[in-house]
Amino acid sequence: MISPQRYIGRFAPTPSGPLHLGSLVAALGSWLDARAVGGRWLLRIEDIDPPRCPPGTDDIIRRQLEAFGLTWDGEVRYQSDRDEAYQAALDRLVANGMAYPCGCSRREWQDYGHYPGWCRQGPRHPERPQAWRLRTDKGPQPIAWQDRLFGYQCHDPTLQGDVVIKRKDDLWAYQLAVVVDDADQGITDIVRGYDLLDNTPWQRQLQAALAYPEPRYLHLPLILGDDGQKLSKQNLATAIPHQPELAPPLLHRALQLLDQQPPSELREAPVSLQLAHACQHWTPEKLAARPTRDYC
Ligand code: GLU
Repeated sequence: MISPQRYIGRFAPTPSGPLHLGSLVAALGSWLDARAVGGRWLLRIEDIDPPRCPPGTDDIIRRQLEAFGLTWDGEVRYQSDRDEAYQAALDRLVANGMAYPCGCSRREWQDYGHYPGWCRQGPRHPERPQAWRLRTDKGPQPIAWQDRLFGYQCHDPTLQGDVVIKRKDDLWAYQLAVVVDDADQGITDIVRGYDLLDNTPWQRQLQAALAYPEPRYLHLPLILGDDGQKLSKQNLATAIPHQPELAPPLLHRALQLLDQQPPSELREAPVSLQLAHACQHWTPEKLAARPTRDYC
């Protein structure tokens, strides 16, 4: 059991677009889980892929979070500042024999479903630009952990294949960056969307390979739009407002989507009041273990 004083949570958006209701639900669940036990809550901007991140989006995200009263502790961390830390982690993985260079193109292996590990014994195409991959055939097998909502998880990491941890265009990949920063920031509790549950085996494997502590995990339901698709920046889900006066009813909706049954009379109440009530009554056990919720 993590003592309240030690709880450190985080919200880690990729600034590829403004936040939508689905991201609000994830941010709110994570914020409530931290604040309900007096924990810290950090904001980390995962801007490792500049072509996907329009300039200024981080500012919009900060203003959106502020409009909904989701304030964070300390300085905002930017992953674009963290090159050296990721390189040091990659160097350790290479030294441990857990990472290898690979110049294979997706077209060459796509019929296998996932990358079959051809370059584990040495690069097949040394003349090409090289990505770096994690060896999923080494380290603890299977990968098991307890999700606070979805229960016991047990995965054979080799079935997901050797994931890229540094891209051949020299950009850092999400799996490595997220694990390095979660450890460096002392994150005890990861509360995020269900779409990342199947990324967790790679992240748990990286934590083991780098001798990092294991955080606890709570994956929250994804919100589906009218078309039955998950709300996402890719399908241009409507941005939540950054004007505080527009926030109350949407915050109320987000609390409902987290199965917290907020009192209907608080629907138009200022966000500070809604959050104080929600924090006092936060009961993650009320969440039904279903991966999705309908927006409407
Ligand atoms: N940056 C990721 C995203 O926006 C989330 C990372 C995480 O919570 O682990 O989807």
